[in-house]
Amino acid sequence: MEFIRKIVENGRKHPERIAYRLALAGPEGALTWGELIRQSGRLAGWMEANLRSHEPVVVYGHKAPDMIVSFLACIRSGRGYCPIDTSVPADRARAIVDDLQPELILMPEASYGEEAQTVTEGSRTLSGAAIREQSAACPEEIPETLALKPEEVCYLIYTSGSTGTPKGVQITAQCLQNFIHWGMTLGAGISEAEADAGITFLNQAPFSFDLSVMDLYLFLYSGGTLYALPKSVQGDAAALMKALRESDVQFWVSTPSFAEVCLADPGFGREAMRRMQRFAFCGETLPPATVRRLMQAFPGAEIVNTYGPTESTVAVTDVTVTEDILEKWDPLPVGSAKPGTQIRILGEDGAYLPEGERGEVIIIGDTVSPGYRNNPEKTQKAFFTVTEGGETLRAYHTGDKGYLLEGQLFYCGRIDLQIKLHGYRIELEDIENNLNKLENVERAAVLPKEKDGVIRSLTAYVLPVEKPENAFAAAQELRTQAKKYLPDYMIPKKIVFVDEMPMTTNGKVDRRSLGQDR
Ligand code: AMP
Repeated sequence: MEFIRKIVENGRKHPERIAYRLALAGPEGALTWGELIRQSGRLAGWMEANLRSHEPVVVYGHKAPDMIVSFLACIRSGRGYCPIDTSVPADRARAIVDDLQPELILMPEASYGEEAQTVTEGSRTLSGAAIREQSAACPEEIPETLALKPEEVCYLIYTSGSTGTPKGVQITAQCLQNFIHWGMTLGAGISEAEADAGITFLNQAPFSFDLSVMDLYLFLYSGGTLYALPKSVQGDAAALMKALRESDVQFWVSTPSFAEVCLADPGFGREAMRRMQRFAFCGETLPPATVRRLMQAFPGAEIVNTYGPTESTVAVTDVTVTEDILEKWDPLPVGSAKPGTQIRILGEDGAYLPEGERGEVIIIGDTVSPGYRNNPEKTQKAFFTVTEGGETLRAYHTGDKGYLLEGQLFYCGRIDLQIKLHGYRIELEDIENNLNKLENVERAAVLPKEKDGVIRSLTAYVLPVEKPENAFAAAQELRTQAKKYLPDYMIPKKIVFVDEMPMTTNGKVDRRSLGQDR
């Protein structure tokens, strides 16, 4: 594949350039391009010699430099990979491992907590320093012919699933290549001269979220540097500002929520980040107020809004938000479709709607996933094919509500119970099904709490098996128990115990009445 070849070439061209830098971690957290290509070649060779299959490998870790080495080793040896962040609760990560049944789990962090035992038990693992030690004797050159082929799965990302078990979105090497080629043109685009000089990209999202694919593969393809913010730095305002000041980032990739967190610090601006050139956002609504504040803090920087689901390789529409666009539209558009993609709006009667009318957003094109891993039922429900001019294209029901106007797509919420909270994609039923597993929960219903049109928090309404004497302590206990199954961002902030669960006539929880009177 062209993009894999290009990445290897970049390493040969700039072996001394820093490829990856972990914020505030010193020399330990840095990796040069020369090392990246050598180590990934060796590890690819080791996998070729030691693994029987070319099935996807799990890469379990957070932001250690060898995460990148592992991803690249997989694709250079013709294997897909599935990144699992260590912040994913052990039972949830285990469910992913059980679904994938990988022949190998790579564990690039120097150390792991006890929960790693639950995740990896029964699997073959290669962990920490052993990754380099074991592969040290392998040649660093690996035949190009081994690398992934266009239709092979390049990566799998598991997203929140309504049943309570995450579903694995499979993205092929061809989908990724199509995405990268377009990603390089975002805003004013990345020129060859800029790429040659080396651009530093910000990595905020964990690698198990598809937003990270944007910064990861644009940095790899352009031959730049990836500056990664670990969870510990993101959670400490002073450390975060110090890291951003030291970062030399020019190309920012994050959710709007994360930029808003940074904007809360008066020090966040051009003074601190002199070379900031471009902000690329995806994953949730970009409020005009956020754009205005960014324009003020970073005069001259480009602000690009992009839209898309994991199922269609990160993003498929883009718009550079200028003063004119800010003046003309509120809410802001999410952009026009990239080349190779068509956006259509589907009406309730199954016919496509004309401009201006609201319906479900359908994505048709060359970055749509072949479907969910081991899940033909969900795949069939969400994906279909369209034949046009003798060509068969893949299409995806996004479940998003939207309309097209003047060539721009506008997003207006969901047609189901999927939400975005602080940039995280969550199926409310995923939380409910996991809360229902807890000892004192008869039935739970989770509702998002909005302010100014943005979801700020979650409230769980719980019908307990036994009414608690102390509701406050019981809610606390429930939240603690829920951590076994749910990542922190899915744990409802507020828990309300109810005496009965209101139901609609067709036997579903009556969410509307729950939201109203409490
Ligand atoms: P994920 O798969 O985590 O990227 O989430 C995809 C979903 O995030 C989409 O289906 C939308 O509901 C939402 N989303 C993505 N980009 C945007 C955007 N620019 N504005 C509003 N919502 C967005």
